Amino acid sequence: MSKFHPELDVLTEYVAGQLNYHETLMVAVHISYCEACRKSARELETLAGVLLDDLPGDHVDEQLLAKTLAMIDNQPERQSRAVSGAASFAHPEVPPPLRKAIPNGFNALKWKKLLPHLQVCDLEVSPDGPAITLHRIKPGGRIPKHTHRGTEYTVLLKGGFSDMYGDYNAGDYLCRDAAHEHTPVAADNEECICLTAVEEPLRMTSWKWRWLNPFLS
Ligand SMILES: [Zn+2]
Repeated sequence: MSKFHPELDVLTEYVAGQLNYHETLMVAVHISYCEACRKSARELETLAGVLLDDLPGDHVDEQLLAKTLAMIDNQPERQSRAVSGAASFAHPEVPPPLRKAIPNGFNALKWKKLLPHLQVCDLEVSPDGPAITLHRIKPGGRIPKHTHRGTEYTVLLKGGFSDMYGDYNAGDYLCRDAAHEHTPVAADNEECICLTAVEEPLRMTSWKWRWLNPFLS
């Protein structure tokens, strides 16, 4: 189960269709792993519907709202149908929102080796905005210490990693800004694959790895 989720205001903007493409993709991928956020998104959708129906009235009918929310709780899981409908997909480790971009599984992608234990692959799924990239780290592999000039979004797809802020597992959603400098280390027992979008290129801050900066933009 995911431990790290998008903030409620991000989820609200997601439901309202107000996020950029890369932000939308990150939330959609997280939601495909996270039952709690799927439920919140459904409730927000219904709430938005109730609010729209209520316009231009003075306030939301609280009884109607309570009834509607109770109804959602009893609804069969909409997303699980979509997920189970894709059960025949040959590469179940690829979450549904990425299956068009990764039709033949992670191993079939063209990975570029950046370090002995780190490979990257740019997914060409963003019509504009930042590149959306997969990072693949060997078990126990360490990413050199780095910070970001802008916001870095990460959703863990497979395996796990840790840094000074916590331990992360498949489905976890992270949004980091320039104030976060970190050195992620993959879990020992499995390779780790992350989906990442960086609004500005990240920067290696450890002098030993600064030579990598031109390759990361
Ligand atoms: Zn969640």
